[in-house]
Amino acid sequence: MELWFKETHTPNLGMVVKVKETLHREKTRYQDLMIMDTYEFGRALVLDGYIQTTEKDEFIYHEMLVHVPLMAHANPNKVLIIGGGDGGAIREVLKHRKVQQAFLVDIDERVVATCREYLPSLSSALDDPRVTVTIADGIEYVKQFKEAFDVIIVDSTDPLGPSVGLFNRSFYESAYGALRSGGILVAQSEQVMFQPDTVRDIVTTLRAIFPVAKLYLAWVPTYSAWGYGFTIATKGSDPAVISNDDLEGKTRYYSAEVHRAAFVLPPFVKEIIGGE
Ligand code: SAM
Repeated sequence: MELWFKETHTPNLGMVVKVKETLHREKTRYQDLMIMDTYEFGRALVLDGYIQTTEKDEFIYHEMLVHVPLMAHANPNKVLIIGGGDGGAIREVLKHRKVQQAFLVDIDERVVATCREYLPSLSSALDDPRVTVTIADGIEYVKQFKEAFDVIIVDSTDPLGPSVGLFNRSFYESAYGALRSGGILVAQSEQVMFQPDTVRDIVTTLRAIFPVAKLYLAWVPTYSAWGYGFTIATKGSDPAVISNDDLEGKTRYYSAEVHRAAFVLPPFVKEIIGGE
């Protein structure tokens, strides 16, 4: 008997993935959590019916979420990740020699524990001495800080359930206050082709708070392939310009050329966000 996982990206579009085995399934305090082993993408974390990350293509998303802001910042000593309980973003952050402290704040301890067990290629860095993992609501967490971080990375689920508040103005204003001078925020921003309104709202809101806010793109096969958006906001610098050279270790998608090219937006995308 064949087993298929179906995920809808819009009411009229979906993706099916053939499944070898469901390795884990539970209802946590916040979300429905599943780890499945698939033929095409290896193991995958699924939350509330949406694929979050897979062994096969997670490197694209995590490299582009992390190395663009960290390479655009001259001295990223203190980095905060909100969400990211699978550990993939932290693993990439630790490839930067200048990072002295990395804080991960995820609301759901079961995501962290389950990814430690089933997704070691992502979660292995969570035990690094530079890393502090806190189980808390990122919305409340950032409110405690004033000018404390150089980079804030929002690696949240889609704007559903506990993530909704991570897409609104008051959270971004708290994050602005928690950033040091020269600070940079990046937020995973959904899919330009199928969630243009969400992308537009994120870019517009950040532009109202930060002096600079730009969209850049990558293609992530499990997130409807082309045009996955990342919105990066700075306290003045141009994030398309690479400001440091401390990235150690191999990357398979990110490079200086890819960094610069990611900010080159097709005319229809510029139209969605009201200009680059
Ligand atoms: N890489 C995935 C993506 O691209 O969509 C998401 C990574 S990670 C699995 C998303 C994490 O956000 C989940 O572990 C979830 O528990 C966490 N999360 C959701 N709302 C949150 C909140 N308000 N504060 C902190 N973490 C939150």
